[in-house]
Order: sequence, then structure tokens, then C-alpha cells
Amino acid sequence: MGQKDRVTWREAILLHKRGFQLYSKQCPKAFLSLGMFAVIKALSPYLSIYLSALLVNELAGRRDISRIVFLTTVTILSTFGIGLLTEGIKHWKEYENVLRWQAKDKIFINKMMEMDFADIDKAKTHELYAQIEQNQQMGGWGLAVIPKYFETGLSAVLSILGAIFLTVGMFLKKVEDPKWAIVNHPIFIVIIVAAMFGTTALSAFLSTKSNEYYSNFAKEGRFGNNIFSFFGRAVTDKRRAIDMRMYNQQDICKYYFTTYNVFGIGAKMSKMAWGICGILNALSSAVSFIFQCFIYIFVCLKAWAGAFGVGSVTQYIGAVTALFLAVENLLQIMGYMKNNTKFLKTVFEFLDIPNQMYQGSLTIEKRSDYKYEIEFRNVSFCYPGSGIWALKNVNLVFQIGERLAIVGENGSGKTTFIKLLCRLYDPQEGQILLNGIDIRKYNYKEYISIFSVVFQDFQLLSASLGENIAAGAYYNKEMAEKCLRNAGFEERLKQMPNGLATNIYKEFDQKGVEISGGEAQKIALARALYKDAPFIILDEPTAALDPVAEQEVYEKFNEITGDKTAIYISHRLSSCKFCDKIAVFHKGSIVEYGSHQELVRNKESKYYQLWSAQAQYYTN
Ligand code: ADP
Repeated sequence: MGQKDRVTWREAILLHKRGFQLYSKQCPKAFLSLGMFAVIKALSPYLSIYLSALLVNELAGRRDISRIVFLTTVTILSTFGIGLLTEGIKHWKEYENVLRWQAKDKIFINKMMEMDFADIDKAKTHELYAQIEQNQQMGGWGLAVIPKYFETGLSAVLSILGAIFLTVGMFLKKVEDPKWAIVNHPIFIVIIVAAMFGTTALSAFLSTKSNEYYSNFAKEGRFGNNIFSFFGRAVTDKRRAIDMRMYNQQDICKYYFTTYNVFGIGAKMSKMAWGICGILNALSSAVSFIFQCFIYIFVCLKAWAGAFGVGSVTQYIGAVTALFLAVENLLQIMGYMKNNTKFLKTVFEFLDIPNQMYQGSLTIEKRSDYKYEIEFRNVSFCYPGSGIWALKNVNLVFQIGERLAIVGENGSGKTTFIKLLCRLYDPQEGQILLNGIDIRKYNYKEYISIFSVVFQDFQLLSASLGENIAAGAYYNKEMAEKCLRNAGFEERLKQMPNGLATNIYKEFDQKGVEISGGEAQKIALARALYKDAPFIILDEPTAALDPVAEQEVYEKFNEITGDKTAIYISHRLSSCKFCDKIAVFHKGSIVEYGSHQELVRNKESKYYQLWSAQAQYYTN
């Protein structure tokens, strides 16, 4: 372990306390059920130990029949009652257990939903989350293990208290016979307590050491797991089926799968289990056993010398054994907590990613006339960590109700421009204004509600067509159908077995329908129309459509967008002709701006160059 990975006790305790507070706040009932189960699990054995001892002492001593009957009845009834109560609480705990897992996942889901888009867009954020998931799957490490530590820790502490209560008599009751009076000496208390702490500490240390080998293996294990998940499943992945066959990729899958197999027979993990970890666990058990032998000798010696009856022998042996196990459990949990600290650090590194985007509070005025004017004023932007300006000094005012086309070569900044407009990122220089006010000052949720966007890499859900369009469980049927009609999906809708209720994709429904890329694009377009926002933004909206469908969308474009402001990114310049204005992007700046007629007239322009490069395929 490197210096940087060293964990202090203070750190381990503080992080687990924070994890406990965070987790238990999400599902207090689940933690209550765990706590109650811990109490009953810890204390119930002592009741039967105590009652059995009384019974055996009575049988070996006075043999009072009415007392024997009384003790037997109390033992039977209390065992029955506690058994019933234990089962009831256990049942409740298991029910809460399911909700507990969901509550834990909710912590991460909420974080993802609240995170700035800039962080969601970073590969590092996803790597961090993948690590958390893998740690959880490999050893339940991270937040997931906190309930177990809570239950076992609490149970151990209560067990220790109960055992001490029942063991005190072992030292207090004196041997009368002077020949054996030596065993009354207080030194035996010191020896027994020291031996117990020594052996339990050693036993717990050995078991924690074994656990440490596994947790140190986590990084390598994660890598192996990733390889296993990717190459092990690639062959069965439907999306890869064609490539697999065309390029015989199963050979490379097999190569990676077997070369980096960290869990199988002969691999590092199984060698560890058979070797060092197995030996350490065996030693840990052996040490416990030696201490128990020592206790047996001491207690039997005292009973033989007449300090107490045979019933008390069972009580003391039972209580000391339980005490030993509880101390061992407590030390073990503390050791595990230390091992788990590095995994919790990863959890909090993720959960503590700050929200740096300024969250304004101004509300957006609801206007039926759609009079929203947007202005880019000297805007420059560079992606975090990139060092290259993706946009530089962009100035543009959108006229209300205008159809604006954005054209330019790949990488010229078109999509970045839209991302800034939707406030997925904030510019480092300049301002974007909505009706004269910096967009950062508006409430973010309200601000994005004025945009309907179809990005190039849009994603649909494995849900019904209607749910996809409304992005919700309830939808207006007529409106959804109208939007699908406007997006050119009418004919296909007629073929859908359950109309709007038909599921797209088959993940959750065998009768779900598979759709083509062009059809998916039409559904995404219908979804944007259904949102009915004052701005409609289409990033390459017809790239996957066939020429006939594309023509249909263009013809209907004015009808579709109505009096909304429409922004249209396209590589096909012929499709931009019907827009009022065209902004030509080049290397992050707007180099030309005007109508098609104005721009194409200038034979030196970038637009003319792009236009003629495409036109030659048609004119030749
Ligand atoms: P276009 O939409 O015109 O093809 P983009 O706006 O997607 O161009 O990209 C503009 C520039 O920003 C390109 O140089 C691209 O490589 C870079 N870029 C885009 N997305 C990211 C990102 N997430 N991180 C870093 N650089 C990016």
C-alpha cells in the first residue's frame, strides 16, 4: 500500500459515519429493522444460557420439582416467544432490505440528475461511477456494506455487554478449599482478560489481513471484470452480431477472455483463496479455539474446586465463548471498515463533484406570441481540459419566428453553439441574452423548457410510442398522433399493432417493434414537436431519412414549426435554401451570414465553396 493510500482510523470512522448518515436518511425504517434485529440477535442467546444454567444447577442440587417445572416452562415459553419475535423482525428486515438497495441506488441516480452537464459529459465521471459499481459487485464494498457493519457492530457491542454481565460471577464466586484457593487470585482475571483481548485481536487481525488481500485485488479484479463483461458478452450482443461474423471477432474475444481471466481456476483470485487468504483464515479460527480451550480448563477447575455448580459451568463457558466471538466480530468489523475506507473515498469523490453552474432564479415570462429574442454577444467557449477554442467571438441575434440554418464543416462548432444555447455549458467569455437578460440569471429548468431539441445522438426509450413522444406515462392521444403525422410517421403508425400503445424495441416486450434509424428520427422529431416549445432546434434532422421522407419534412417544415423560431443544422445545403437566414461556421466563428441568395452570389464565400462541392454531384 503506497503512502497516499494509507488510511487513518479517524478517516475510517468519519467516512463511515458520513456514509451511515447519508444512507440511513434515505431509508430510516430499514436501519431501524436492522437495529432491532441486532438487539434481539445479541441478547436472546443469553436468556437461554441463563435459564439453562439455573435448570441444570437445580437438577444437580436441590431438585425441587415445582421449581424445575417452573424453570422448564419459562425456558420453553421464552424460547418460543423470542423465536417468534426474531422471525417477525427478520421478515420485516428482509422486506426493508429490498427498499434499502433501491434507496442506495437513488443516492447515485439523484446525483447524476443534479450534476452539471459538463461533468456528465466527462469520461472521468463515468469511470468513477463504473468503479463504484464494480467495487459494489466484487465485495459489496462502498456504501452497500454499511448496513452490514451497522448490524454486526451493534450486535457485537450488545453481546459484549450481555456476556460481561453473565461472566462476572465466574470471577466473583470463590473456591472455599484452601488447597485450590490460588484460582481466586485476581491475577487470573488479568490473565483471562489479557488472553482474550490478545487472542481476539490476533484472530481479527488475521481475518482482516485476509480481507485486505481481496480488497487490494479490487483494481485488478475490476479490470478483469470489465474484460469479462465486454469480451464475454460481445458474442451474444445483438448489435455486434454482423461485425462478429464478418470479421471473425470471436477469436479476439476468446483471446482477451482467457488471457485476462482473473477469477477462474488457476487465476490469481483462486490462488489467493487457496493460498495466503485460506491460511490466514484457518489461523484465525485456530487462535480462537486455543483461547476457548484455556477458558474450559479455568472454569472446570473452579467448578471442580467447588466455586459453583455444573449449571454455572455451561453459563460461563457459553457467555465467555459469546464474549470472545463478539469481541472478535467487533475487531473484525473495525478492520473491514478500514479496508472499506478507500472504496468510500471513491463514493464521496463522485458524490462531492460540485455544481459549478450558476443557478439563477428569474422566471421565464410565458408568452403566447413567442416573443423571445436570443442574442449571442461575443461568445467564446473552450471544452474543459481541451485548451482549444471550440467557439470564438460569436455574435448573432435570432429574429423571432425566423428559420435559421447553421452550416459548416465537421468540427466547425455548430453543435457546440446549440449546447451553449441550451445552457448545457456556460461560455468562458461573452454573454448569451434572452430578451436582454443573461441566460444564467434564469431558473435553469424554466429556461430549458423553451427549447425543443433533436440532437444527432438522441436516444429513445424502450417504452410505448406514446410514452416516448410525451416523455411521460400520460399523453394526449390526438396531439401525439398529430405530431407523428407532421414528422412523416403516419403510414408507419397505421401498421403499429397497438397504435400509440405499441412498445418500441423488445427489451421489455416480446411484441415490441424494432424500428429503423430513419423511423427513430421521425419519432424524435415528433417528440420535439409534442413539447411545443417556442424554439425548435434540429441538429441534422434528416440525416437518416430517405430522400422522399426528407422532401416531405422540408415541404411541411413551415407548417410544422408555425410561428416558432427554428434553428436547423444541416450538412445538406440544398435543405437550407428554405431558411430565412444562414450562418456559416468555420473554425468556431461565424464567417458569413445572410440568405441563400445573398451568400451564393459571392463566389469567394465559404458558403459558395460548400454549396458547389455538393451541387457538383447533382449537376454533373
Ligand atoms: P460540429 O457540430 O460543427 O461538427 P462540434 O461543435 O461538435 O462541431 O465541435 C467543435 C469542436 O469542439 C471540435 O474541434 C470538437 O473536436 C470539439 N469538441 C466537441 N465536443 C467536445 C467535448 N465534449 N470535449 C472536447 N472537445 C469537444
